[in-house]
Amino acid sequence: MKLYQRLLEANKEWAVKKLELDEHYFDRLSADQKPDFLWIGCSDSRVPAEELTGARPGDMFVHRNVANLVVSTDMNMLSVLQYAVEVLKVRHILVVGHYGCGGVKAAMTHQDLGLINKWLRNIKDVYQKHAVELDAIEDETARTNRLVELNVVEQVNNLLKTTIIQKAWNRGQKLDLHGWVFGLNNGIIKPIVDMPAGTEITDIYRYDFE
Ligand SMILES: [Zn+2]
Repeated sequence: MKLYQRLLEANKEWAVKKLELDEHYFDRLSADQKPDFLWIGCSDSRVPAEELTGARPGDMFVHRNVANLVVSTDMNMLSVLQYAVEVLKVRHILVVGHYGCGGVKAAMTHQDLGLINKWLRNIKDVYQKHAVELDAIEDETARTNRLVELNVVEQVNNLLKTTIIQKAWNRGQKLDLHGWVFGLNNGIIKPIVDMPAGTEITDIYRYDFE
């Protein structure tokens, strides 16, 4: 059997099992989606959003990219964000990094990696913003792990800077933002930052709405 065919076989088994447990499972699944959560996570194959959290199909709208970045010019992320907030009306947005993130590690080197340099520049900017704290950490792994945490904080801050989030809060939408970091070594998600609806926005990033 070819490698990819295993996935198709496993999928058939999954569908059969679901029907065995509940004959109407796919009737409900195909009806609509009403997820409470938007997950913005890393593309890393070891950090599967649903599996880590026990979320079921229909629970979570998911966007993943290298190092879970919220970049103000990323049409992909912004489209996901807008749809999740304005149409699906998710209640919580989770920005989820993970310790040992390859993207964060790469951003801490001086290697020229080609196109991805431009993407990783966003993490270098996070490093630069927190350079005093990070440079004081001697152990390299500890420094990387702290940058992983700070990166999540800054990406949640980047959500706050969007008109999508600000407009939602302005119209009273219940929408909270959270920054988490997943530990590959113990399987536990550590909450790093919570920004409930109405959290004060740094003045220069705040927009006025009619
Ligand atoms: Zn990663």
